Parts: sequence; C-alpha cells; structure tokens
Amino acid sequence: MLNQETDQLLQNRINELVVPASKVAHVQLGNSLEHALLVLIKSRYSAIPVLDHEYKIKGQISKTMILESILGLERIEYEKLEERVVSEVMDEKIPRMKEDETFLKALELSINHPYVCIEDSEGVFQGILTRRAILAAVYQYFRQS
Ligand code: AMP
Repeated sequence: MLNQETDQLLQNRINELVVPASKVAHVQLGNSLEHALLVLIKSRYSAIPVLDHEYKIKGQISKTMILESILGLERIEYEKLEERVVSEVMDEKIPRMKEDETFLKALELSINHPYVCIEDSEGVFQGILTRRAILAAVYQYFRQS
C-alpha cells in the first residue's frame, strides 16, 4: 500500500524535470550521416533525437547505428557517410510522452531507455527526460523521507 506522499510523487507531472528542446542536440531526417556523426561526437551523446522540418519527433540515431550502416564486408565504407541520410538509418521506435503524463510512466520507460522524448499534442518536440533526472528525483524523495 502506497502512502500519500509516494502516491503524490508518482502522480506528479514531469514538466519540471524536462531538458527543454533548445538545449537538446538533435538532427533532421535529411541530414547526412556525416553531419549526424559530427553532432554525436561533438555533443558526446551516444544517441540523439531525429526531428522533421516541423520539429516533430521521428526517431533517434546513435553512433552505433551509423557505424553499422557503413560496415562493408572487408572495410568500413567511409564514403557512405556523405551519401546516406539520417532517415535511412535511424530507429523509428522511440519512447515518447506528453508533458502532462505522470512521473510513474516516465519511471517505467526509463527502465529500458536512457531518455524519453516529450511531445505536445501535435507531436512537436518539447524536450527530453533523462534517466539521470528521474533517478535524481527518486533519490531526493527517499533522502527526504
Ligand atoms: P544522461 O542521463 O544525462 O546521461 O542522458 C541520457 C541520454 O540522454 C544521453 O546518453 C543522450 O542520449 C540523451 N541526452 C541527454 N542530454 C542530452 C542533450 N542535451 N542533447 C541530446 N541528447 C541528450
């Protein structure tokens, strides 16, 4: 049986924990793999969201996906970095939530995903919720109780 405070934490909206879109590194569907790899390396993240020209969430791309896609039988085909675009390689399955959904859902999604994309009712990207932010909130809660 949950006490009232725990129930409150789990039902809380997640908007205070979100990293706003303006601070999230991302790429667009038509960007080359070379561009995406540069953004990934410079940002030091292993995976980042992919958006369309209307800023809607379409998937995510990682360094591993890019490297696997240019792996030939005997060599790494670096020239493909310029030829191929993000939409050919990205993973369309990406965990997503609306800002008015609960902390409990974010906690559940964070078990299997390092971050969750937050979108508005039209699918427009609002930011991300990282596993780090979720764990910090849980830690804060247990420290205080
Ligand atoms: P963290 O919990 O802070 O290590 O973040 C988990 C994952 O979320 C990272 O590995 C990235 O894939 C993604 N991420 C976190 N912050 C950003 C950011 N500012 N821009 C793009 N992706 C991010």
